[in-house]
Amino acid sequence: MFKKILVANRGEIARRIITVARGMGMQTVAVYSDADAQLPFVKEADEAVRIGPAPAKDSYLNVAALLEAAKQTKAEAIHPGYGFISENAEFAKTVAGHGITFVGPPPEAMLRMKDKSEARRLVAEAGVPIVPGSKDTIPDVATALSEAERIGYPVLCKAAGGGGGIGMAVANTPAELERVFRACVDRARAAFSRDTVYLEKYFAAPRHLEVQILGDLEGHTLHVLERECSIQRRHQKVVEEAGSPLFLDGQNAGVRQQLFDAGLKAAKAFGYANAGTVELLYSEGQVYFIEMNARLQVEHPVTELTTGVDLIGWQFRIAAGERLTLQQREITRTGHALEFRIYAEDPVKFFPSPGPLKVFQPPTGPGVRLDAGYAEGDVVTPNYDPMIAKLIVSGDTRAQAISRAKEALANFRIEGIKHNVPLHLRILESEAFVAGRLDTRFLEHHAKP
Ligand code: ADP
Repeated sequence: MFKKILVANRGEIARRIITVARGMGMQTVAVYSDADAQLPFVKEADEAVRIGPAPAKDSYLNVAALLEAAKQTKAEAIHPGYGFISENAEFAKTVAGHGITFVGPPPEAMLRMKDKSEARRLVAEAGVPIVPGSKDTIPDVATALSEAERIGYPVLCKAAGGGGGIGMAVANTPAELERVFRACVDRARAAFSRDTVYLEKYFAAPRHLEVQILGDLEGHTLHVLERECSIQRRHQKVVEEAGSPLFLDGQNAGVRQQLFDAGLKAAKAFGYANAGTVELLYSEGQVYFIEMNARLQVEHPVTELTTGVDLIGWQFRIAAGERLTLQQREITRTGHALEFRIYAEDPVKFFPSPGPLKVFQPPTGPGVRLDAGYAEGDVVTPNYDPMIAKLIVSGDTRAQAISRAKEALANFRIEGIKHNVPLHLRILESEAFVAGRLDTRFLEHHAKP
């Protein structure tokens, strides 16, 4: 195992990785921007290196500074967490070129899934069902119109280099598509520096299901069951759970098997190793691949808590060349877990709400865990993602997890910023949530203030 690792991330995920690495006997190095110098993750690491000013492009995305920090501290491996440089194949290659291990998939696998349109083609060839859509990226409006005619309206225009729910646009008619297509291309160029886009059939109210994958460098690949992440705002996850209510009490066992088969086939088609997630939509009894994420997922704790599989631990072991000794049949779920993303934002308009955390008193209780990037007195700056913490609650049953979560959220005291704890409480009060009737447009219809 590595003697010393560097965490190329910040906030709650940096803390989590530091804790796991320390538990495995590794020395830890944090890197931080000027905006984060006082945060807990910097104090908790064995060493900390300043990598630049607040803007992410000058710090957490600054490849030269990250590499220099690793060399200076003699770190043998870099864990990227999620976001920032976690899906950057070039970064993975660069660090490998300097004899440092990237804790993630091989760069070739990352490149295969980077372009979402290419990824669709690759997995479809391997027999994975994909959302009906364009075979390729769409060069112009005329092609968009003819492809949409073939697919059938409504259609969704997506950036091939996209992520974070950014830049997607729905068109219900050809006239709308003409407008939407141009806007979609412009947004793709602005957000991802690539203007390639593609079309998918737009499902009215699908569920977002995903399969956790683990694979070693010798080609032993398995799945660590499913998560459901249908509660979203602006196509970004807000509440996640393991398992999906769709499959509670052995319901829809055939669909669940399709989901796992699709996840494993997709991972193998990409030549995947390390931890990754295959994302699918579920609509009218069928599952459809949308993308694979080449990294640890924000919501990985709900899987860890219900399966006992230490995903971050395995990321390190696999990166160090160890074989995945787990077998598929050993992976089973016990109980249920819910994760609530706590955002520093206006809970109605979803605008970020930076500021000082004058009061930050997380709840405690049976089955309650808090992964926070901040402590009371810290300042949430506007430089990064507004997620400040994750409240993760588990129970023997979904009903118990819900009831524990209600109590925990009701006792969570945050003052100084706007936040979405009240939204989470409303979600838990909603009859549809309790009944497990979830879809990606849930918040348009439920949990209104
Ligand atoms: P990103 O990579 O930007 O996160 P994804 O392709 O993973 O985008 O999709 C994010 C979310 O957008 C999904 O969870 C779902 O809510 C919505 N979405 C994506 N594709 C479709 C589709 N074809 N029909 C309906 N909703 C979709």
